Amino acid sequence: MTSMASCRWCGSPHGEAVLDLGLQPACDDFPLPDDPPAPVHPLRLWACDGCGLVQLPDRSPVPQEPRAVEPAALTAHARDSVGWALERGLLVPGTSAREFGSPHGGSWVHLLDTAGLDVRDDDRAGPVDAVIDVFGLMHEEDQRAGLRRRADALTPHGVLVLVFPPLETVVEHGQWNAVRHGHHAYPSTAVAARQLAECGLTVVASVLHPLYGGTRLLAARRDGALPPDAAPVSLPDDVPRAALTVLAESVSAGVTALRTHLQQAAAAGRRVIGYGAASRAVPLLVAAGIGPDLLPAVADASPAKQGRVIPGVGMPVIGPAELVATRPDEVLLFLPDLLDEVRSGLPEVERSGARWLSVEALLPARTG
Ligand SMILES: [Zn+2]
Repeated sequence: MTSMASCRWCGSPHGEAVLDLGLQPACDDFPLPDDPPAPVHPLRLWACDGCGLVQLPDRSPVPQEPRAVEPAALTAHARDSVGWALERGLLVPGTSAREFGSPHGGSWVHLLDTAGLDVRDDDRAGPVDAVIDVFGLMHEEDQRAGLRRRADALTPHGVLVLVFPPLETVVEHGQWNAVRHGHHAYPSTAVAARQLAECGLTVVASVLHPLYGGTRLLAARRDGALPPDAAPVSLPDDVPRAALTVLAESVSAGVTALRTHLQQAAAAGRRVIGYGAASRAVPLLVAAGIGPDLLPAVADASPAKQGRVIPGVGMPVIGPAELVATRPDEVLLFLPDLLDEVRSGLPEVERSGARWLSVEALLPARTG
């Protein structure tokens, strides 16, 4: 049974399927070469008519254990964001904090600790002055219960810091391959602010960081803790439904562009190797039906992924040294944020005449 039961936020059964990526494996589950094929599940986006939340309507496999090496861009985002929140007095040394983490890394705990906050790590520690959620909430199947749990962990004057990839960024950059199993909800900034309001929290500060094309930070406090003259924070408008239609249309254009590029390279005898066996590469490769014939391997810095295969499409994951040894003509980068890091880390690639190509350069740049 794959039909929509009810909205993960408001419970409404009324809404519209806005994007369909077909049957997809769990993108964090990298099998060994001899493992049976990874099970596949419908991967669709559904927009709720009741509250506007865009979400996965189907049961979705939960992420496996993290295998990724944390990209420098994610570390920089954490450093920038903690610095920003300290400067504005949202995070205060000597006060208590708790992180609701993501299974994909990006933790702020070390930075909070270094800044002098008293980091506690579970419910038994009681309410805290700052609740930090960095890409965590999207993993909650019941979105309302998930946000409530975070709000309930706050002291009366506490601050909730919520970091997520807002829907407006996904739409603006045509990032349909950010849609994946285990990420159950894709709120716009406007929807997230409404959800916070329903939990009795008001946004008191917001910033957009360049990570992943635009990562949103919202800081919110209990309505009763605001000064009476607090000015409202300016936030972007909600994403219109029509923009989601354009996003869906960009899927077929994107997979066609990727296939055509790799077919032309193969016909010209150019060896293309992928880089970044990241979860966001999986929906793209599966939807495009790209196999080892068109992309013989994908390199990744994570030793835990090397020797495994990309789920659903079966190309092997190799290490960076093996990538250099294959003497590719082109390295197709599935994580544009890694470009500076891999260029400086693997100068041999360009020295031997190959070029780095970000996969985003092949996909329709903007959808709306
Ligand atoms: Zn809803």
